[in-house]
Amino acid sequence: MNVLVINCGSSSLKYQLIDSDSEKVLAKGLCERIGAAGSSITHTPAGGAKQTWELPMKDHTAAVSYVIEKLTDEKVGVIKSLDEIDAVGHRIVHGGEKFAQSVVIDDEVLSAIEACNDLAPLHNPANLIGINSCKEIMPGVPMVAVFDTAFHQTMPAKAYLYGLPLSYYKDYKVRRYGFHGTSHSFVSKRCAQILGKDIKDTKIIVCHLGNGASVSAVKGGESVDTSMGLTPLEGLIMGTRSGDMDPAIVTFLAQKLGVSAEEVINICNKKSGVLGLSDGFSNDFRDLAEAAEAGNEVAATALETYAYRVGKYIGAYAAAMNGVDAIVFTAGAGENNAQVRALIGQYIGFLGTNIDPEKNKIRGEEVILSDEGSKVVTMIIPTDEELAIARETVALVK
Ligand code: AMP
Repeated sequence: MNVLVINCGSSSLKYQLIDSDSEKVLAKGLCERIGAAGSSITHTPAGGAKQTWELPMKDHTAAVSYVIEKLTDEKVGVIKSLDEIDAVGHRIVHGGEKFAQSVVIDDEVLSAIEACNDLAPLHNPANLIGINSCKEIMPGVPMVAVFDTAFHQTMPAKAYLYGLPLSYYKDYKVRRYGFHGTSHSFVSKRCAQILGKDIKDTKIIVCHLGNGASVSAVKGGESVDTSMGLTPLEGLIMGTRSGDMDPAIVTFLAQKLGVSAEEVINICNKKSGVLGLSDGFSNDFRDLAEAAEAGNEVAATALETYAYRVGKYIGAYAAAMNGVDAIVFTAGAGENNAQVRALIGQYIGFLGTNIDPEKNKIRGEEVILSDEGSKVVTMIIPTDEELAIARETVALVK
């Protein structure tokens, strides 16, 4: 089966066409600046060169048309016609409490996703536009919604409730949801395979350290806690997001800066994290690691502060599960950045795991980082959210 995986943002659309039998990516690409001047599509067929075309895209439907055009193009295409797309898998950011699993999309599902719009106002409306655009261009092709929040729906009340009046949960569904669920699920399953254990008998901490970052505690294959909350702002210090902080800072800063609370939250989302901590130097862990090595103290402190927070969450989740068998690093910085992993490594030795500095030089591949015989196994497992979405899609439409 050929599955088209779509990840729609407000002005962008990422895609991958995956052959689900071989699990090979046939082609992938990205439409950018949709609805604005200078929109473009970048397309890479398997084994071929990446190419970019500037093309007018007034909306996401136009973008989906160009995706199909490139996929079926004589020169850069990988299929002959639209008929060779058997199903579409959509990444949906927020499924609220309604979706604990992926689902085949129908009108009822569309309305339920729409009902979650106020929980993810930047993401869900864009995801819905992506679904509707695909429906318009590929009517009759089955589509599946895969939710970032679904995997974490197994969290118990003690993990998802905030210490707020209960009526806010009852009336407005103010609770912790967690995100990156597709990645945490994919990586924890693979980790159990590597450990050679039934996932039901495992306690795994997954550190998804990308530009957005979250840690999860996965016990017996189920998420029992995760660091992101009502929105993806809670938890770890991230590329540009503050993560956990005293909520009183919001009104304190609003007063000092003479701006609204919304504006302060915007600063917490876009100008904080390691970008803010490094005084605006960079949100990219590569830049920060290089600068820190070259003696830039502000960059070094940003990285240390970041790693300290990750270390604290690992300790907390080992307590939450009353033990841990494996700690996994994944996503951009988790897979590739040896310096970040080494800094986090300072805080996990007490659990009975040491990161071997030689093995830690490896990046972007599956590797066990801890010494043989370590009580807790620490490893890198590259995440593959698109493949996970394709697998979920096939499982539901077959
Ligand atoms: P993601 O959001 O998963 O794409 O991760 C983005 C982050 O991963 C960025 O901060 C990058 O600096 C980091 N990253 C990606 N590739 C590398 C690499 N080869 N070496 C170090 N860091 C990397």
